[in-house]
Amino acid sequence: MKTLENIPFAIEKTSLGLRLMIEPGSDDAHDFADLVQLALKHGRPVAVYSEEFIDSKSDDGVVIGGVKFTSKTLRHNLDAVERVFPFVATCGVEMDKVFPAGSDMLKDYWWDAIKMQLVTAARSFLQKHLSTKYRLGKTVCMSPGSGDANIWPIDQQRQLFSLLGDVRGAIGVELTDTCLMVPNKTVSGLMFTSEADFQGCEVCHRENCPGRRAKFNSELWSEIS
Ligand code: SF4
Repeated sequence: MKTLENIPFAIEKTSLGLRLMIEPGSDDAHDFADLVQLALKHGRPVAVYSEEFIDSKSDDGVVIGGVKFTSKTLRHNLDAVERVFPFVATCGVEMDKVFPAGSDMLKDYWWDAIKMQLVTAARSFLQKHLSTKYRLGKTVCMSPGSGDANIWPIDQQRQLFSLLGDVRGAIGVELTDTCLMVPNKTVSGLMFTSEADFQGCEVCHRENCPGRRAKFNSELWSEIS
């Protein structure tokens, strides 16, 4: 497992403030600016990844580096793939230390939005790093728990973490008993080269989701069902 540290990040204070409906020049804007400063001072987004090869493929899943993953969608998307990059990218544990949640609901909400900027920077840095180092070309990502519940069940986060090794020791990210990651603004998954586009949202039936990044794909859904 390799660790990426010293990841550069920026916080778009003005546009983020507007998105959070913070009125410029208000007391809230002043408090928000303080939080941005705190994040700029203490934020340490980081990521870990490893390079793994697919051992075998079956009807309902794949074995990667000796670890079995069960998901017809993953199997479908890895049909022409031999090498994958499991990863975890996070806003960093420092963010929860310098501003623990629970003291003020509104500020917690702002802080989560700031943390989101850091985890986005970490994920994007990781993607560029892998693309350059391994000359990957176009990449696609899949994450346990994204899409409908049976697409790639979230409890396979355990296998993903076991494939990487001591993630907690390397970057402090913990997996809870219910397979959520702490800090909450952490992403994980498998990245791999693919000419086809794929977003978990394409196989998710949830309506009116504010985070939707792609339309439901009924053709793909019938292929994997
Ligand atoms: S539609 Fe929403 S819930 Fe479904 S995978 Fe996309 S972001 Fe997640």
